[in-house]
Amino acid sequence: MANATGPDIGPPPGMVMAQAAIAALDRDRSGYARVVLESPAFAELAPGGAAPVFKVFIPPRPGEAPVLPALGEKYLPSWPPQAERPTVRSYTALDFSPGGTAVEFAALGHRGGWWLDGFSPGDRLGFIGFKHGLVPPGDVEHLVAVGDPSAAGAMAALARQVRAGIAVHLVLPRGPALPDWLAAPRASGTSTAADTGGYGFPRIGWAEITELTGAPPARTALWLGGEVRPVRELRAQALRGGLDPARITAIPYWSSGLSRDEFDRELSVRYRRAADRGVDIMDPAVAAEIELG
Ligand SMILES: Cc1cc2nc3c(=O)[nH]c(=O)nc-3n(C[C@H](O)[C@H](O)[C@H](O)COP(=O)(O)OP(=O)(O)OC[C@H]3O[C@@H](n4cnc5c(N)ncnc54)[C@H](O)[C@@H]3O)c2cc1C
Repeated sequence: MANATGPDIGPPPGMVMAQAAIAALDRDRSGYARVVLESPAFAELAPGGAAPVFKVFIPPRPGEAPVLPALGEKYLPSWPPQAERPTVRSYTALDFSPGGTAVEFAALGHRGGWWLDGFSPGDRLGFIGFKHGLVPPGDVEHLVAVGDPSAAGAMAALARQVRAGIAVHLVLPRGPALPDWLAAPRASGTSTAADTGGYGFPRIGWAEITELTGAPPARTALWLGGEVRPVRELRAQALRGGLDPARITAIPYWSSGLSRDEFDRELSVRYRRAADRGVDIMDPAVAAEIELG
């Protein structure tokens, strides 16, 4: 198939783009939905690290088949006419087995979120993934992960999937107990329920985190996921505290007042401007600076 950016080259090596069926979508009182997607194509998934990320393509109406984009040069997507165009959202695999055909994730039913309520088992979503798996450098002995409620799935995935020998310290907002399927068992590490500041993010500073966990910065990696403002602030504190930027993964999950589509449009303008200035936008530390504004 050809598209506006050239011939359709398919997803990058190791990634899969496919239609998937919703095999389970269970909402419980905790506010999370446990979602399981199934596709024979998932057998080809090659995760590159812990808590791998994927995107779903949500069709305009439940029951419809999601249209998948054609991918051209540099994997730029080319979409069909607006009316059929799906909505794209990012999630994190909580569980999957290499060679298996199911991917499980936790989706927070936050206020303003729109798609979870309308969809049910049997409906289809498009899928492209994985990317962004975390592989801490070899000398890392501690991983500290701080996130808002929508990061609970990613943080459980980190605790389950990051290599043995690393103590994982989770800092989540204080709130109702997480359901069992979102548990984050780990032989070593700590789990802290913190009061929240703005945007549902734990109100905790870098100095307090190092004191609480006893994690020496020279042997520590930091993972952050949540609203862009508190993620930016805690990353800045960790940098001032001497943490190497290459050891920080700081992901702006959402931006208050903007849908992800609006936020993505803002980010693409920033990326284009940075590329025009000759900045290496493929450098993860540079990308974090761009995305965190
Ligand atoms: C790499 C990555 C991985 C992610 N993994 C997960 C995951 O595993 N599970 C998960 O639940 N989310 C995850 N997210 C976050 C999720 O993609 C966003 O929350 C997304 O915006 C939800 O889409 P929506 O259609 O429900 O809301 P949108 O249409 O994007 O937004 C509607 C309104 O809700 C607000 N909003 C958006 N997200 C949140 C939120 N999380 N909390 C409170 N208000 C919000 C917006 O500012 C807007 O006002 C991830 C995001 C990224 C970038």
